Amino acid sequence: MLVTSMKSSSARIAKPHGSNVGTKLSIGLGLLTSAFFVCAAPSDKPTANPIARAGDSAQHSLPQHASTDKSATTVCRGVSLQVLGSGGPELDDGRASASYLLWKDEKAKVLVDAGSGSSVQFGASGADFTDVDIILLSHLHTDHAADLPSFIKGSYFTRRDTDLTVYGPAGNDLMPSTQAYLDALIGKEGAFKYLSSYTQEGEDDYKVSAHTVADTTFSTSISDDISIEAISVHHGPIPALAWKVTIDKCVAVFSGDTNNADGTLANFAKHADVLVLHNAIEDIEKGAGSAATNLHMTPEQIIEIAKESKAKRIVLSHIMKRSEAGLDGLTEAIAVIAPGRVFAAQDLMNIPLVSDLTREEGR
Ligand SMILES: [Zn+2]
Ligand SMILES: [Zn+2]
Repeated sequence: MLVTSMKSSSARIAKPHGSNVGTKLSIGLGLLTSAFFVCAAPSDKPTANPIARAGDSAQHSLPQHASTDKSATTVCRGVSLQVLGSGGPELDDGRASASYLLWKDEKAKVLVDAGSGSSVQFGASGADFTDVDIILLSHLHTDHAADLPSFIKGSYFTRRDTDLTVYGPAGNDLMPSTQAYLDALIGKEGAFKYLSSYTQEGEDDYKVSAHTVADTTFSTSISDDISIEAISVHHGPIPALAWKVTIDKCVAVFSGDTNNADGTLANFAKHADVLVLHNAIEDIEKGAGSAATNLHMTPEQIIEIAKESKAKRIVLSHIMKRSEAGLDGLTEAIAVIAPGRVFAAQDLMNIPLVSDLTREEGR
């Protein structure tokens, strides 16, 4: 039985820069009577997200998101990156705020950032919150972290019974630590203290904990096939992290918001299977002021990082109105100078990361 309060959603089929194919699918979920899936081809081509029903059961069938090619010559088999939100904090950009999902074998395993609107897009992606192993936050600006309590409340309607850890940055005078943020939201004295049972051992179906990353570098193993790393990055006065997630030797790197003042991103993302770079401002000669360049990378910097990293795929995201005008030019410039394929992010775009090693020289 279809139960949904969502009126509609949209997904985009997109291809790397250079392709002239870009199709928007607008599907009224309220009209669907069964799940609607678009399966990925066993190739490197990004596909539309599947639109799944928002059912009353946590066991509704899940889409096939990436290749199930059993060839021994492939890496990242079954792994894909889905953009839940490709925008920044603007109200009228037509995009949800920053958020990404990493899928493995048709399960959404890692949520990176939880910006405004991401919990709605999570449902539209067909993901099941029961499958999510961890949440990683790059920093605590609203366009990266505001939907966290919505995910926790929404989980009440799932069958989740495994504990959940939210990893994120330390605090300073301007921002709370990730632990303090979680406490301020759903702790016993939090704004949404009606959800505080999720922070107390044994009081609910599972427990949510925060892990504040206080050091400039951090790494840990989450499970047999998932490990994470973080480095602190400069985002003006805001504590911020770039994240690296490795799933079965498949590497996804997320710049988060940063101006890369330390110059560490390219090396951190060396040979990554996908590198998500936030393209929030224009170049200095086109008007970017010092406040913006203290927070974000310019397109010129993004091109350099894309080139130096030798990442296999570059995803330009966190698109804002001031950066959208130059987006075509930027993707074109990266396509010319960097070895990887380039994608301009759209909400719900899903990019299989499978690669054929026989056609590439190492990793
Ligand atoms: Zn942002
Ligand atoms: Zn920010």
